[in-house]
Amino acid sequence: MELEEFPKEIRPYIFPKHKGNQIYRCLACGREYGLEKLLYTCPSCGQVFLIYDRDFDQLKKISGALWRKIFDYRKMASIPALKGIYLYHEFVGPTIPPDAVVYLGEAHTPLIEANSFLQKKLGIRFFVKNDGQNPSASFKDRGMASALSYINYLIKGGAVSDILAVCASTGDTSASAALYASYLQPHVKSAVLLPYKKVTPQQLSQPLGNGAKVFEIPGVFDDCMKVVEAMSERYNVALLNSKNAWRILGQETYSYEIAQDFEYDMVNKAVVLPIGNAGNITAVMSGFIKFYETGVIDALPKIVGVQSQHANPVFRYYASESKRREFIPVTVKPSVAQAAMIGNPVSMPRVIYLAELYNQISGGQNVFVVEVTEQAIMEWELIANRNGHIACTQGGESLAGLVVAQEHGIINNNEIAIIDSTAHALKFSGFQEMYFERKFPSEFGISYKSDLINAPVLVETENTDNNFISETFAQQEDRSQRFIDISARAIANALNLKPKELL
Ligand SMILES: *Cc1c(COP(=O)(O)O)cnc(C)c1O
Ligand SMILES: [Zn+2]
Repeated sequence: MELEEFPKEIRPYIFPKHKGNQIYRCLACGREYGLEKLLYTCPSCGQVFLIYDRDFDQLKKISGALWRKIFDYRKMASIPALKGIYLYHEFVGPTIPPDAVVYLGEAHTPLIEANSFLQKKLGIRFFVKNDGQNPSASFKDRGMASALSYINYLIKGGAVSDILAVCASTGDTSASAALYASYLQPHVKSAVLLPYKKVTPQQLSQPLGNGAKVFEIPGVFDDCMKVVEAMSERYNVALLNSKNAWRILGQETYSYEIAQDFEYDMVNKAVVLPIGNAGNITAVMSGFIKFYETGVIDALPKIVGVQSQHANPVFRYYASESKRREFIPVTVKPSVAQAAMIGNPVSMPRVIYLAELYNQISGGQNVFVVEVTEQAIMEWELIANRNGHIACTQGGESLAGLVVAQEHGIINNNEIAIIDSTAHALKFSGFQEMYFERKFPSEFGISYKSDLINAPVLVETENTDNNFISETFAQQEDRSQRFIDISARAIANALNLKPKELL
């Protein structure tokens, strides 16, 4: 839609004007630093940052009702820089001029209502928000669009050149980083560190295809993270892990979209999502708080984080009595929710800070963490996908978390749940295959239910090894007809089909 066609009162707001005054703020000592330099941790005390806009209060001068209209109308504008996460420009990165925005088609992912079979089975109305439908097939693209737009802004301003972007990854961060970095080549090159044999073949193929240097480290994600942290301290590299606070800003849009998807009515809603490095739950809480503070929404939804028993440090932290809480990293065990298989989440200080704030604003506990079994994660992924979804194993983890949250009375059936399926099913099809072929290594502790197993059937026809080159045309036709007849009969028998009644 052309600008002149928008209602008069909206026109001045379609193109963002708020420039903001964004800074890094240390969560421990409160020191603030300007954005001219890429910083990940406080130079003074070493703690992680969140990025704040010192002029955020100016956004409150616009009413919630007007913001809602601005976002809804912006969706109709054909301005690429405002099509992805930057539809919410003023909230995501007012510092970033639209011409520096890197947009590769991320965000505004579909919200799909579960079918009546699933809703009856769980006894609750719920939706799946499919973040697997992002360019690199996971939610990480939201954060990467934000981080690379900022880097692009620095490049365009001449503040940096020849950037080497690095990250450690359970598979999806590296896929996303490599994709977004390759868009900015030759100014940006990327290198990714992966735990050897602990990402799926699809995830490994992604950074390779996008031209990143890929390093496999014998160990788990937490080991890779220590190496890139050391590298970012000692060398001139741009760290793209969620330690980088720009990632969090981009991922906040998941909350903004949920609000918009539900016409900004967040009463009686519960958002359920997996926790790995805890960047996503940080962003989701932060996003809802910002929309609440500016009156865009007038209630904060319940947030339920989910962890597997095989990688549960955040669950353990919140399970202990609030006065005795002390964060203790865990050693992870193999998990089908492999992208969340993290024992020492870097965003834990952010989670502790924001969960407390979220509960305080909500006037009572509104952030919960539940734990689920590997078996439940796997089964719920398979069940979801047998009912029209494209959930990854972490999406299965969310669904399993919804079930546990209901059992514990955390979510009840007068609420509407929104399940985060964080990546596309195809990235994790190897786990499905291991289930279908009963081939899980014993450490996963997975047992099999035959009604959830599926396998292809090879249709046997006549021996096809003959040398057909000397066949006449008529012989070929004859054989082709036999082939069709035999195949059709074999499939019909397998499916128990009855022949059509002849009229
Ligand atoms: C990264 C990732 C997670 C975990 O998100 P965090 O922000 O690390 O907590 C969950 N699911 C998928 C598919 C991921 O790629
Ligand atoms: Zn500090």
